[in-house]
Amino acid sequence: MMSAATGKCPACGFEGGRKACQELFDEIALKVRELAWTDSMKTWRLMHDVYSIQHEEDFCGRYRGLIMHLGGVCLGLEHGGAERGYRALQKSIERDLLKGQPYPPAPGIPRNRGSITIASLRSADQPVLLINGVDRWARSAWLAYADLQPMAREWVKQALDGN
Ligand SMILES: [Zn+2]
Repeated sequence: MMSAATGKCPACGFEGGRKACQELFDEIALKVRELAWTDSMKTWRLMHDVYSIQHEEDFCGRYRGLIMHLGGVCLGLEHGGAERGYRALQKSIERDLLKGQPYPPAPGIPRNRGSITIASLRSADQPVLLINGVDRWARSAWLAYADLQPMAREWVKQALDGN
């Protein structure tokens, strides 16, 4: 699964390989933390969820991770990224774990995860550019997961209802 140092990231297609893809992501996540504008936490969280669903093998592996991250993208884009939603989602996963609820097999993950990668944020160095860039990137990845959107909306709905 690891790619060579050069070439494309096998998960998202980033030019430069998996390692360079991760390094750029880490750098931009740090930038968001440093700039720390009002609500920057929402951008920070959304970018982690988007990156996780674009690199599903590394970060979602288990079904639980997919619920958290794809559900997180849904919360970010369709529910304004309210903190309460993420807590509810986390709680609903823990509740299922306590109940020993078995998770269904992981659903089909799309091979193509959107044409936009972290590369699009390379030169974003102001809050407005980061906010808009992450939003555009999230919408592209969310669209790539179109087949799983109804399921993600259901996870979010159940989590919000159950709280
Ligand atoms: Zn990548």
